[in-house]
Amino acid sequence: MEYEAVIGLETHVQLKTKSKMWCGCANRYGDEPNTNVCPVCLGLPGVLPVPNNEALRLTVLTGCLLNCEIPRFAKFDRKSYFYPDAPKNYQLTQYDKPSTANGFVDFEFNGAISRVRITRAHLEEDVGKLTHFDRNSGVDFNRAGVPLMEIVSEPDITGADMAYEYLNALKDILIYGGVSDCDMEKGMVRCDVNISVRPAGTKELGAKIEIKNMNSFSGVRRALEYEIPRQIAAVKRGEKLIQSTRRWDDDAGITDEMRTKEHAHDYRYFPDPDLMPLAPTDEWLAEVRSRVVELPLARKQRFMREYQLPASDAETFVNDVILGSYFEDIAKRAKNPKAVANWIINDLRAKLAEHSSRDSSPLTESQMDQGHLLAGFTLAFLRFEPEAILELVNMVESKIISSAAAKQVFAEMFETGKLPATIVQEKGLAQVSDTGAIEKFCEDAIATNPNSVADYKNGKIAALNFLKGQVMKLSKGNANPALVGEILEKKLN
Ligand SMILES: [Zn+2]
Repeated sequence: MEYEAVIGLETHVQLKTKSKMWCGCANRYGDEPNTNVCPVCLGLPGVLPVPNNEALRLTVLTGCLLNCEIPRFAKFDRKSYFYPDAPKNYQLTQYDKPSTANGFVDFEFNGAISRVRITRAHLEEDVGKLTHFDRNSGVDFNRAGVPLMEIVSEPDITGADMAYEYLNALKDILIYGGVSDCDMEKGMVRCDVNISVRPAGTKELGAKIEIKNMNSFSGVRRALEYEIPRQIAAVKRGEKLIQSTRRWDDDAGITDEMRTKEHAHDYRYFPDPDLMPLAPTDEWLAEVRSRVVELPLARKQRFMREYQLPASDAETFVNDVILGSYFEDIAKRAKNPKAVANWIINDLRAKLAEHSSRDSSPLTESQMDQGHLLAGFTLAFLRFEPEAILELVNMVESKIISSAAAKQVFAEMFETGKLPATIVQEKGLAQVSDTGAIEKFCEDAIATNPNSVADYKNGKIAALNFLKGQVMKLSKGNANPALVGEILEKKLN
């Protein structure tokens, strides 16, 4: 019998706010332990939490980006449990009345568009960070009370690769929307994986096994590549799987059991008596909706459609938002947007890379990951206006300069910021399209290369290319190659 995997993901994302969820402490990574804390986020008695409006906005904005419904009533509940990283002994979270529900994410997978439904995206708070030393453990509460959003998917994912692509698409959407920086190295995105297996084509779900606290997408993929065959093999042996929680051991490449359902928590959820329910007004919602941006997939499809770009070019401009906007600004006015894309993707990027490695400190790994920032650093230093690229493309299109000369012009305009027309004039790079001059070069080439002429007349086509090369040489590379071919053939025949 064939088996299939059924996978749902719970993705936790730290929101990009200046301060924490219920107090004014900084939401900042990397500070000395326990320096961004106050009575509120340390859970001292007698304090009152005040919700962070921007965190509420970012959660609803996420709902808009993920095609969710935005209920007009939401609230916060206390999820009670004891653990040393939770100073209040409960976590504030949206339990049965979340701020968003019933959405979906479309993304590219295996050459087609896949859809994963979103159950909800709700707002909660992060806990502190435990560090275990040889003989004791330490807790850093700088992270306690940082706004954390949980995005719960429906069990629509069928395999490890699909989970990986879904997570990447989600991350791109959140970065695009300015919801989170999604810096994995700083633990800004973490993931719980729910997985079960069942006979292929059946409807009933098998026992749900959860893998907790994954902090990399490739880890999620590896864990699923291990866990799916493990469960299928167990079921085939006749074992009965029970609902349980497992941990992924990345070094060993295995999952192992942490606890079974009998030991599951009873969180005793109840509405937080210190917090008002959330009832967004039309005005507040309109303000949030005004922040909705074009999503990466939509942008890619639009770039392919409107500017006739191949998928790979469009992807480059989606991954590097600033470079994409720079392209679009020029392409809107160009007759041949693909030529503009070629200059930006090949020549401009190469020059920028050269320039940044020469003039500034190398980018950190996380800056490289966040490709959309890359061009932002460097485009600001460009000495020429975007119009110059348009002018350069037009000069090549209208055969004023050859493509070889255009490379020279580009290098010069990158260094000096001069206009292409000025450079062409100063360096005498204009293509010779004067037929009289070209005819003279052709006659000279024919006269000095009688053997090649004879070869050509005997049917050797390669000889014509040689003669063309001679003409180009005589013109110092400035003759219009199409005209040279035409005139040369006419004279030889
Ligand atoms: Zn605080």
